[in-house]
Amino acid sequence: MRRKLPVACSQLPIAILILSFLAVAFSTPTAPDEQLVEVTSDNVPGVVLEMRYATERNITGKAIYPNGKAWLRMEAICKLAKVARNLEEKGYRLVIWDAWRPSYAQKALWASKPDGRFLTPPNKTSRHARGTSVDLSLGDKNGKILEMPSDHDEFNAKADEDFSDVPKEAGKRASVLRSAMFAAGFSGVPDEWWHYDLKDWADYEPIRGDKLDKDED
Ligand SMILES: [Zn+2]
Repeated sequence: MRRKLPVACSQLPIAILILSFLAVAFSTPTAPDEQLVEVTSDNVPGVVLEMRYATERNITGKAIYPNGKAWLRMEAICKLAKVARNLEEKGYRLVIWDAWRPSYAQKALWASKPDGRFLTPPNKTSRHARGTSVDLSLGDKNGKILEMPSDHDEFNAKADEDFSDVPKEAGKRASVLRSAMFAAGFSGVPDEWWHYDLKDWADYEPIRGDKLDKDED
């Protein structure tokens, strides 16, 4: 059975006003910035959170986030909700590997792999800093993580959008994800099948998120 879209998505401009007011009035202590909203199964149906930077399963080998919560702008969450509904009909659930990324995390990633072909150097703004980008994979209807073309941040030929060199089923799933994301208003990048941005990501300011920022230099 289809769940209703959150009111915040059908009346987004009003919702953003209300959310901003509520954020100021009640100042949610855990939100790293008032422009960010926590991604949960209430606003993205069936979402599975597997925030890799909150675990050791990432290129640094260390947990660099203080917890496994995912944060995005409401505009991105509303579009992800559409994608989740679309995929639910096909028997899939969205898995989130990363969402908004604070600057200290970008620095930690760069320190571990200082290669501009794969990562944005800390002196430039990563798209993830804007709260409009998300790294995704797929789970089955029970939330079991499915095989995809590559692992997160696996920077090699398996990560690109040419799926001819990966297992057929994995390539098919990545194509299904890509179609659903593009249909909902996201764009992708050719070298990372898991990375998506709101099409108009460049119109949004970076969010530094000082509350979570451990690097106050
Ligand atoms: Zn990404």
